[in-house]
Order: sequence, then structure tokens, then C-alpha cells
Amino acid sequence: MRLAQKVALITGGSSGIGRESALLFAKEGAKVIITDVNDAGGQETLAMIQAAGGEAAYVHADVSKAEDCEQMVAFAENTYGKLDILFNNAGIMHSDDGNAMDTEEHVFDLTMNINVKGVFFGCKYGIPAMQRAGGGSIINTASFVAHLGAATPQLAYTASKGAVLSMTRELAVIHAREGIRVNALCPGPLRTELLMKFLNTEAKKQRRLVHIPMGRFGEAKEMAQAALFLASDESSYTTGSEFLVDGGITAAYVTPE
Ligand code: NAD
Repeated sequence: MRLAQKVALITGGSSGIGRESALLFAKEGAKVIITDVNDAGGQETLAMIQAAGGEAAYVHADVSKAEDCEQMVAFAENTYGKLDILFNNAGIMHSDDGNAMDTEEHVFDLTMNINVKGVFFGCKYGIPAMQRAGGGSIINTASFVAHLGAATPQLAYTASKGAVLSMTRELAVIHAREGIRVNALCPGPLRTELLMKFLNTEAKKQRRLVHIPMGRFGEAKEMAQAALFLASDESSYTTGSEFLVDGGITAAYVTPE
């Protein structure tokens, strides 16, 4: 098993990428701490892992709150004795996120508080735990929009993911000699609730699909597979990377017919 003896904490584990990663990490032998603000969804993920014979626990944590992040890390150490893998995955794409003129300040602030401060708080408390464990792997979910400008405006979201990417690089450099690797996962457009709620008409979906060389949205399961690589010792020489898993969208100038 690829994550035997590892303890992994996954934020936003109640749905989408977080849930699929929790299921996969547990299947690969990790003890998984699932955290989210959606407790019902978190309990569902937990039940799914347990039904498959895996080891996991759920704890409520709003990643925009320092106290919650401190407690989720303490919960991981108290429950399973250490922290090896931290997947800072929780994030939002607000339905009122738009261009500079029509995005309200509270939408921008909320997006930054969850998507950027959430990663900062995860690292603020997760890194000392990894130092105590003698090393670890941190995965921060950024996005392809940290690389490309999107024609459907989502300014706050795009800014937040750019910040996740640049934080990831600096964290990777600072902690490299402590055996703590820090990588970004940059998903392309996925068929998860988050994006499907935002691209809520067929026209909006098509406008995005036309740019993807593979001609389809990605699946949360495909992101979980990429996260597994970054989480495991198989990626032992990989740090500070921007792992693009995006159906080729960032490689394309013009997509094939
Ligand atoms: P999702 O909505 O299915 O999952 C996000 C999870 O985060 C949910 O369970 C939600 O309850 C949780 N969450 C929201 N606010 C939180 C908070 N304050 N504290 C803790 N948990 C909170 O979406 P997803 O697609 O699985 O998104 C996961 C990550 O992937 C996000 O960071 C997102 O920005 C990123 N991403 C998604 C796409 C896409 O197309 N879906 C593309 C690129 C990046």
C-alpha cells in the first residue's frame, strides 16, 4: 500500500476532490482525518471509508478560523499520534464572484479568507506537527486559473489561487531541508458541484469545454490520483511543483476540432 503507516489530514473532505482523496488515501493504508464545515457530508465520507475497511476520523474545522485549524491538527496528533500528510484542499468559488466592477468586497474577502488564509492556517499549525514527525508532505489545491486568465470572470477566485501557488513555492523552499515537501495541485475544470454550480447554464459549460483539448471536464477521482502521488514517498524528490492535472487546458493555444 502506497500510504502505509501515514497519517493524512484532508480539509474539505465532505465532497468532491477532498472526499475522493480521503477514500483513496484510506484505501492505500493511510489513517485519514477528514475535516470540513459540512458535518453531514464529512460523516458520510467517514462512513464510506469505514464501510471499505479503512481507518478515519472526522472533525469539524472551518479553515478560515485559526482556532479551528489549530484544533484539527491537534486532533490528528491526539487521535493517530502524528501528522505526515496535509492536504489543504477546502475552497469556495462564490456564485457572485465576477469582474472587478461587480464583485462585492465581502465576496472577495470571504474567498480570500477560505482559499488563501485557509492554506496559511493549515501550514501555520501543520508544519510544526510535521517537524515533530520528522518530515511530511503538504499539498495545496490551487487551480489552472492561477496560470491562465478565465473568460468567465471570477476575479476573487483567480486571485486566491494565484496566492496559493506563490505561497506553495515559498513554503517549499523554506522547509525543504526539514524533509517537508510542499506542492500545489492545479486541477483543470472539473465536473464537481463547485464548478457545475458556477457554470450553471449549458452555454457557460460549453464556453469552458471548448478550451479543453480532451473535450471533457475532469473528475474528482482523477485529482485524488494526482494527490496520492504527491502525498506518497513516490514523489520524494518533488517539491515546490505546480502539478497541472487539467486535460491539457494550459497547454493549448487552439484546441483541436
Ligand atoms: P467541492 O465544493 O465539492 O468541495 C469543497 C469542500 O470544501 C466542500 O466540502 C465544502 O464544504 C468545503 N469547504 C468550503 N468552505 C470551507 C471552510 N471554510 N472550511 C472547511 N471546508 C470548507 O469542490 P471541489 O471541486 O472538490 O474543490 C476542492 C478544491 O479544488 C477547492 O480548493 C477548489 O477551489 C479546487 N478546484 C476545483 C476545481 C473545479 O473545477 N471543481 C478546479 C480547480 C480547483
